[in-house]
Amino acid sequence: MPTELFKVVSKVGEGTFGQVYKAGNGAGGFVALKRIRMESERDGFPVTAMREIKLLQSLSHVNVIKLHEMMVSKGAVYMVFEYMDHDLTGVLCQKQFLFTPAHIKALCKQMFAGLAYLHHKGVIHRDLKGSNILLNNRGELKLADFGLARFYHKRRQADYTNRVITQWYRPPELLLGATVYGPEVDMWSAGCIMLELFTRRPIFQADDEIHQLQVIYRVMGTPNTTQWPELVDQPWYELVKPKEAIASQFRDSFSRWLSPAGLDLAEGLLSYNPKLRVTAAQALETAYFTTELPRAEMPTGLATLGGEWHELDSKKERAERAKQKRRAAEDVAEAVGKE
Ligand code: AMP
Repeated sequence: MPTELFKVVSKVGEGTFGQVYKAGNGAGGFVALKRIRMESERDGFPVTAMREIKLLQSLSHVNVIKLHEMMVSKGAVYMVFEYMDHDLTGVLCQKQFLFTPAHIKALCKQMFAGLAYLHHKGVIHRDLKGSNILLNNRGELKLADFGLARFYHKRRQADYTNRVITQWYRPPELLLGATVYGPEVDMWSAGCIMLELFTRRPIFQADDEIHQLQVIYRVMGTPNTTQWPELVDQPWYELVKPKEAIASQFRDSFSRWLSPAGLDLAEGLLSYNPKLRVTAAQALETAYFTTELPRAEMPTGLATLGGEWHELDSKKERAERAKQKRRAAEDVAEAVGKE
């Protein structure tokens, strides 16, 4: 644990690649320390961490997390980040502070601004989800966790892995085996997150990849070659071909949550055809942001929240609630037994 420069306050996250700590910086502020896991590495410094560091060092935008520096302490290597009070998964799990439609607009605007910057720089994030979107008490939103991100070739089509993006946020072309893709994969995830901000829970929840496509079909309808001519060329198309055509239920499902312009944008983000999917730069120019009321308003009320909310806290709270439920059930069983 690094003690010389920074004073660790608490653990705020457990990433796939290492633990994340909140620490005082000695000047009244805080930083986040991400410890790089070295134990399983036989060949020295992990390549995934190296990739993340290089990428982050080339980025500078208000809506992208800032990597201050690297630090070595007692043989462990840490990435030192600006500290963020919450992540989106954590905030959506608490009920003390609820976002208004104007707050959600401000969050979406910041998410698209961050993505437009990344994509302009030639970076695909490839793991957008609530726990990787950080918020501070000023209502600022920053994209984080670049462990799966990569530079893509803007002019040349290249083969990449399709084992990226957490399943619930993974676009249909990756679920159908595509290995040639671009920044559109992030825009599908962004569409899922935009809707989740309104509904407060992930919109496409499935246990496995095949089921994932079925869950998407149930809401968005089955894809067809009129909207997406390259559908039949997708590597696993024949394997997971839907048995019957289903019509889209999108408007019915979400019109009680979103305004008309919000619905148009979210639907455009969830286009099956990646070429027709709304880009981040286009999203910022849509009526949802430019003309439709209410105007975006920063959720500064997050500062009134008791404590800080990260995915780790919501996991702990869920575990605590499950424990209480179990205890209550045991008490009932005991009371019944005594009768
Ligand atoms: P990561 O491995 O980057 O996905 O981080 C895991 C978790 O740690 C995230 O879901 C956040 O809750 C938390 N975290 C990561 N970076 C920061 C940061 N800069 N400030 C505060 N919390 C963070």
